[in-house]
Amino acid sequence: MKPTLYIVIPCYNEEKVLPITAPLFLEQLRYMQTKELISDESKIMFVNDGSKDNTWDIIKGLAAENKSIMGISQSRNRGHQNAVLAGLMEAKDKCDITISIDCDGQDDISVMTQMVEEYLSGSQVVYGVRSNRKTDTFFKRASAEGFYKFLNLMGAEVVFNHADYRLISARVLKEFANFKEVNLFLRGMVPLVGFKSSSVYYERKERLAGETHYPLSKIFALAIDGITSLSIKPLRLISSIGIIMSVVSIAGLVWAIFSKFLGFTVTGWASIVAAICLLSSIQLICIGIIGEYIGKIYMEVKERPRYIISERTEDYDKK
Ligand code: UDP
Ligand code: MG
Repeated sequence: MKPTLYIVIPCYNEEKVLPITAPLFLEQLRYMQTKELISDESKIMFVNDGSKDNTWDIIKGLAAENKSIMGISQSRNRGHQNAVLAGLMEAKDKCDITISIDCDGQDDISVMTQMVEEYLSGSQVVYGVRSNRKTDTFFKRASAEGFYKFLNLMGAEVVFNHADYRLISARVLKEFANFKEVNLFLRGMVPLVGFKSSSVYYERKERLAGETHYPLSKIFALAIDGITSLSIKPLRLISSIGIIMSVVSIAGLVWAIFSKFLGFTVTGWASIVAAICLLSSIQLICIGIIGEYIGKIYMEVKERPRYIISERTEDYDKK
C-alpha cells in the first residue's frame, strides 16, 4: 500500500513567499503521486504561526481551492519549533509519514522524492542535510556552522547542517508525542527517539521572497536552548572550573605562606582586587548557567500546552 504523506509547513508572516512556493509544493506532491510513491490522500498542511499579515487568509484560500491543501492556525505566535510540532502532532493520526519543511523555498523541495524512497526502503526518519551553503552570506554560514560545532561540543548531539527539513514516520511521531518538554529543539530531540534513520543531501538556496526570521540573536538563543534542553555538560563544566580554580587557589596559598615566611610580604591591593574580580565574574557565569537550567525546570513544571490550535480548514471531529 502506498503511504499517505503530510507535508507540514510552518508559516509566520509569509504573505510574500507563500503564493510563490505553495504551487511548488503542490507540484511536488502531484509528482510523487504520479510516481506512485504516495497515496492520493496525501496533503500539504500549512501551519500558521500567529501571523500578523495575510498569511492565514492566503492559506484558507489555498485550502478552499485545493483538496490536497489544508491549514491549521495557532492562536498566537509561538515560534518555529512549536509551529512544526503542532503540525506534526496534528498530522500523525492521519498519515503514515510526514515531511516538515520551511515555506520559503530555501530547502530543495524535489529532495522529498528521495526522502520517501528512503522511507520505502526502511528508514523511519530521513534527515535533509545541506551539502553546502554557497548562497548564504559569509556571516550566516559562519554563524550557522559555528552553531552546530558548538552544540556538539556542549553535548547536544545534532546532525551537522541539518535543520528542520526531515521525514518522520507516524510510528516515530507516536513515540515522539511522549516527549513532554516545552523547551523544544526538534533537531536534537528526534535522534533521541531512535529508529532507523538516513540522510539525503541538497544545496540550500536563497529565500524566494520575504525576509529571514532568524537573525544572529535568534540563532544564539536557539543554540542556548538546544544545549540546555539536551545536555547537562555546562553543569559539569562548572564543576571542572571549580576543581581547577581550587587547585590554583591552593597553589596560591602555598606561595603566599612561603612569601610570608621568607619575608617578602606583598602589600599591593591590586592583586586582591584582581582576584576578587576574576573570581566573582566566574561565579556569576556559573550562577547564570545554573539559572538557565532552573528556568527550564520552572517552565517544565508548569506543563503548559505546547500549542493551541484555534482554527482548521477541515471540519473533522477531533475529540
Ligand atoms: N517561522 C514560524 N514562526 C516564527 C518564525 C519563523 O513558523 O516565529 C517559520 C517561517 O515562516 C519559515 C521557517 O519558520 O517557514 C523558517 O524561518 P526563516 O526562513 O525565517 O529562517 P531561516 O531559513 O532564515 O533560518
Ligand atoms: Mg528560511
